[in-house]
Amino acid sequence: MRTLADLIFPPSCLSCRRPGARFLCVACEAAFPWIAQMCARCGRPTARAVLDCADCREPAPAFSTARAPAAYRGVARDVLMTFKLGGERRAARRMAARMAACAQPMLVDVITFVPASRTSMAERGFNTAQELARGVAQHLRRPCVRTLRKVRETADQASLDRAGRRRNLDGAFVSLRAPERVLLVDDVMTTGATGDACARALRAAGALDVMVVTFARAGD
Ligand SMILES: [Zn+2]
Ligand SMILES: [Zn+2]
Repeated sequence: MRTLADLIFPPSCLSCRRPGARFLCVACEAAFPWIAQMCARCGRPTARAVLDCADCREPAPAFSTARAPAAYRGVARDVLMTFKLGGERRAARRMAARMAACAQPMLVDVITFVPASRTSMAERGFNTAQELARGVAQHLRRPCVRTLRKVRETADQASLDRAGRRRNLDGAFVSLRAPERVLLVDDVMTTGATGDACARALRAAGALDVMVVTFARAGD
């Protein structure tokens, strides 16, 4: 069905921009980097399945499991960039469907999301994690609630190593009272430091189990 949005912004592949595709064209869909083997704990893509990995050892993250449909490269990276830049907010539904399929086996009471920093909210006008969380919640038929708040601005994580990332985010998030089983949504997981910091805040607010789902996951 053609909508007004389609007339204003004709649909095109989110990776190669070929016109006509509503999400990905046939060629880019075939190149979608689905994660086949992963770390059972943190969902990092690996050459063969492992029980834990360097990202989730010493210290172990405060979330119990993390999953993502896609490795953070190629077509999946393009999809995320196009979505984040704001022209393709409708992509959230398709992205969320893939995330929900990964999260399906997790037993959760509510879905929540990583809050945006004030600067990225001002730049984009929307929180990518929140948009994805809404879609995941619809698929999983669970409520999407805002529980987390970022209480201070933090340095850009990209320039920091693993220990530095953890320190940078220490105490950066607080949560309202959280139910027992929470599914935390974000767009991409790199080292897991953000997921860990949010999970710590959720656990301090009463959550017994925090699981994480992101659209993409960095790794080998
Ligand atoms: Zn394409
Ligand atoms: Zn791991």
